[in-house]
Amino acid sequence: MPWDFDFLVVGAGFAGSVVAERLANAGKRCLVVERRGHIGGNSHDHYDNAGVLIHSYGPHYFRTNSEEVIAYLSQFTEWHPVEYKILSWTDGRYWQFPINLNTFEQLLGRPSTSEEMADTLAKWRVPIDQPANSEEIILAQVGRQLYEKFFKNYTRKQWKRDPKDLDASVCGRIPLRTNRDDRYLTDKFQALPKHGYTRVFERMLKHPNIRLLLQTDYREIVPHVRFQRMIYTGPIDAFYDNRFGPLPYRSLRFEEETLPMEYYQAAMQVNYPNDHDFTRIVEMKHATGQKLPVTTIVREYPEDYGPGKEPYYPIPAKESHALYQRYAELAAREQNIRFLGRLATYQYLNMDQVVKRALDEAARLLAR
Ligand code: FAD
Ligand code: UDP
Repeated sequence: MPWDFDFLVVGAGFAGSVVAERLANAGKRCLVVERRGHIGGNSHDHYDNAGVLIHSYGPHYFRTNSEEVIAYLSQFTEWHPVEYKILSWTDGRYWQFPINLNTFEQLLGRPSTSEEMADTLAKWRVPIDQPANSEEIILAQVGRQLYEKFFKNYTRKQWKRDPKDLDASVCGRIPLRTNRDDRYLTDKFQALPKHGYTRVFERMLKHPNIRLLLQTDYREIVPHVRFQRMIYTGPIDAFYDNRFGPLPYRSLRFEEETLPMEYYQAAMQVNYPNDHDFTRIVEMKHATGQKLPVTTIVREYPEDYGPGKEPYYPIPAKESHALYQRYAELAAREQNIRFLGRLATYQYLNMDQVVKRALDEAARLLAR
């Protein structure tokens, strides 16, 4: 293939891979350039030395309400249905989480009913009409006792800021139920790709119109290729050399441990709001259904973002949105560059939302 392309796609996560697949499928020649040594971005997974399938960058629970996204991804994978279940460890015991009727019974130490739970929460709730931040939204749902037990310190540890200084959507994404539904997520489709995420990306990118370059920063390659348009899925501030100052991100450190036992903990994920420096221990075997005599757990330690760290989370807060807006204005003026995905649009997006945006973007580009 000559070094002449219709599209240069920067990043091989969901945003870059989906858009490249769609464009390639419509006959466009795409060069996909990825800085890391593998495809899949943060959704990458791999088999560790013990043969356990683990998510390389924290647990990635696929869920969606979009038929379009399911139909699209199903071209590249079969699915392993999962009910994602987690527990929270605090005050020396495990609690059902997210908060549901079982949690309420644990708190009371006796059986209860949905009606009693609803009536009690109505008394505990702090009356706040329009919750403006992550503290207010939880106080408005369940009151101060449960906020302090499950949310306040987890959020401080994860984001290194008070829940008051984060958008309501951060804690607001955790469901609250007065029935016994103890699934972590509410979307109607909840499943993992049967053979892992990386296989999905391999199938998407294996196309005669796609050329893939790993371990390459797009800046190294730009002088050597011709292309009509660029789709950029990396951090938007880096694209503009931090012209207005760096956007804030939160990073993580993952500590893996393989143990000679079938399972280490009772659930796929245990959260530690008030103990330890890590936020959660994930044992992905519970979700993948892999049968092995050994297991691998991953402890997740929140860290500051800086040199040598990955910008895992944009920080959803007023001042970071304001700074992002300045970059977004520059981006909107670009004629031949489109910004797509979690880092390029500085939004805390789930995989299905990124897939949907990439499908829409490819359709727009092809319609031009
Ligand atoms: P990314 O996956 O970040 O891909 C962008 C790619 O661009 C990266 O591979 C990067 O290396 C590359 N890149 C950046 N700069 C350059 C450059 N200069 N040159 C070349 N390449 C470059 N979503 C869910 O739906 N469910 C979950 O349970 C879930 N859990 C998560 C847990 C964690 C810890 C994290 C961090 C995210 C989680 N997500 C989850 C979100 C999910 O990871 C994102 O929605 C998804 O990865 C976004 O895809 P993307 O392509 O926009 O970004
Ligand atoms: N959260 C919390 N306690 C918990 C779980 C979550 O306070 O036990 C808050 C925390 O601020 C977290 C946010 O809710 O960042 C979203 O949680 P989720 O598990 O969806 O985070 P992610 O998987 O995206 O890291």
